[in-house]
Amino acid sequence: MVLGIAILLVIGMAVYVATPLLSPESPGEGALPIDVTPLTDLKRRRMVVYENLQDLEFEYKAGKVSREDYEALRENHLGEAAQLMLAAQEQEEVTENDVIIERQVATRRAQRKLQPHDSYTCPECGFENPLPVKFCGNCGTKLPQHASKK
Ligand SMILES: [Zn+2]
Repeated sequence: MVLGIAILLVIGMAVYVATPLLSPESPGEGALPIDVTPLTDLKRRRMVVYENLQDLEFEYKAGKVSREDYEALRENHLGEAAQLMLAAQEQEEVTENDVIIERQVATRRAQRKLQPHDSYTCPECGFENPLPVKFCGNCGTKLPQHASKK
């Protein structure tokens, strides 16, 4: 519990410290284009983290960043990248589920479209006669008039 809070604090500080380093097109929650999905946003943020890592490496090698700062920031960037990756994986699972559900709905809609509005479902065998008929096409049972499917 205490450790979790400490980690959150460190991540928060890292974001605060790293903010001036971010490029101008860095994430701003309100500035997201509408067509950006949570998944592409996560991937983009991960790219930003990796860019920051590269920048950090560069600045460290150039002697602009102390070894202590470099190691602390690097740790934070890597942690952030790992978190974003996990979040992206979760998001991908959600997206896959959505696609499956959408497909099922589309299939059901297509099936419904194929059936006439007043389907002549046989009360005996359950066969759905595609045409308005007086007798079941499957078992020959006389169908009630204006039978409606529900
Ligand atoms: Zn029948």
